Amino acid sequence: MPTHDDCIFCKIIAGDIPSAKIYEDEGVYAFLDIGQVTKGHTLVIAKEHTKNIYETDEAVASALFARVPKIANAIKETFEPAGINILNNNGEAAGQSVFHLHLHLIPRYDETDGFQ
Ligand code: 5GP
Ligand code: ZN
Repeated sequence: MPTHDDCIFCKIIAGDIPSAKIYEDEGVYAFLDIGQVTKGHTLVIAKEHTKNIYETDEAVASALFARVPKIANAIKETFEPAGINILNNNGEAAGQSVFHLHLHLIPRYDETDGFQ
């Protein structure tokens, strides 16, 4: 499984940096974002390190997104949001700050939940 020594998300998968796990299987790991923009804000990552969408092949992209319905439903059950946004930033100009491909699952509650 390709990993990257300097990648904080690879270190999270390895358990070298603690995280609040939401879901894990052989290919994917999901955990609460340290900067919760809303309650239950979750990051979903493939265990295989790829930098962003430009460097990700179909197999990794498919495996990553295939788990999203299950993870979104787990978030729905736990946090009871009214809806959920799914976001993905690629490149610094687009707001990417961690260069291990990840999806943001952002539960939405109402217009005052703090996320625009
Ligand atoms: P990006 O800006 O790359 O789309 O999102 C990176 C996200 O990773 C940010 O929302 C940030 O809060 C989160 N993050 C950065 N470092 C850590 C960490 O060590 N633990 C966790 N749980 N989240 C992190
Ligand atoms: Zn990584």
